[in-house]
Amino acid sequence: MDVYFDNNATTKVLPEVAAAMLPFYTEHYGNPSSIHRFGSSVGEQIAEARTQVAALIGAADPVEVIFTSCGTEGDNAAIRGMLEARPDKRHIVTTKVEHPAVLGLCQHLEKKGYRVTWLNVDENGALDLAELDAALTDDTAVVSIMWANNETGVIFPIDQIGAMTRAKGIPLHVDAVQAAGKIPVKVGELPIDLLTISGHKFHAPKGVGALYVRRGITFSPFLIGGHQEKNRRAGTENVASIIGMGNAAEIALGRVAEDSAALTKLRDRLQALLLESCPDSRVNGAQEPRLPNTVNISFRYLEGESVLVLLDQQGICASTGSACTAGSSEPSHVLRAMGVPADWLQGAVRFSLSRFNSAAEVNYVNEKMPSIVQRLQGFSALGRLGDQPRSDGGVRASTLGARG
Ligand code: PLP
Repeated sequence: MDVYFDNNATTKVLPEVAAAMLPFYTEHYGNPSSIHRFGSSVGEQIAEARTQVAALIGAADPVEVIFTSCGTEGDNAAIRGMLEARPDKRHIVTTKVEHPAVLGLCQHLEKKGYRVTWLNVDENGALDLAELDAALTDDTAVVSIMWANNETGVIFPIDQIGAMTRAKGIPLHVDAVQAAGKIPVKVGELPIDLLTISGHKFHAPKGVGALYVRRGITFSPFLIGGHQEKNRRAGTENVASIIGMGNAAEIALGRVAEDSAALTKLRDRLQALLLESCPDSRVNGAQEPRLPNTVNISFRYLEGESVLVLLDQQGICASTGSACTAGSSEPSHVLRAMGVPADWLQGAVRFSLSRFNSAAEVNYVNEKMPSIVQRLQGFSALGRLGDQPRSDGGVRASTLGARG
């Protein structure tokens, strides 16, 4: 059985979405900026997709939606756009648990001379809102905080965060890449100024995303060149993918409540079964509101990468949730920020589900998991009896003769 439980990495493109895209490669291939009929008819379809995406995120006006190439571009465009529009301000506020699209950019900006406040999270992954409030100053150009964490699924209280930034007149950018399509997102009703989404997280293709910029926000474009997207994002539009994202957005909006209820049930069943069947396991981030599809489980003394290798041999695809470098897996910056103890830190595995998963797949994973954990825990115990234990307590994949 092949089981795909890595939907926070990317999702399957819906067949109806792929079908809607195809004519835009072979028949309606005009450039939407062209005046002739081949162009203008495509322009109308892009306008329709913009309306569909605006509806998914609850934007008051489709003009607030700018199409981008991915979530990473949206995050970069939002933060850099605010810095450029407010050149007198040199301070950014973000969190220690952001996706690398925000984290890496802010580290880069720090090297360039910006001051960055990195907000902490507690052991459950929750922010301290008093720390946020204290960090906001007259010099703060932008606050960038994710809606839902890609590794743990933990959801931040964006309404309260927005109330604080709005009270001080500081623009708030929200990375909603993992939230859109999974939980209701009503940006028009919240004190959010910019919001990033990415199509491939909700069954649209890879290579297309959108950035919401609230009307009235002064925004400097990241990509400069042609006049596309009302001078806010230069470059000929990725038409077929934009049409695909529009379709996927409409489908996701129509199903978000139903899918969320079904996924919560499935995810909770997976979580309960694995905690029961695998000794020395715990959930990271369970005490906070979470995305319905995500569970992050640590197996004590193990290395997540080794678990993944053995899971893959059984046809099960999951993730450690953190970037792996050749030969060694860096412990997750998210779990480190949560203060996950050393003996649990390396052994994290993220299971992220979609509407295409079933109870039979959950049962299959639960059937396979205990023997994998037992096998690795045997190696781990041997390792701890023998050589000096590693400071992080993990067992390397190489111990198993596996990749590494
Ligand atoms: N932000 C979050 C929270 C993500 O999970 C991801 C992708 O995993 C991104 C940004 C980057 O999105 P993309 O892969 O479309 O560049």
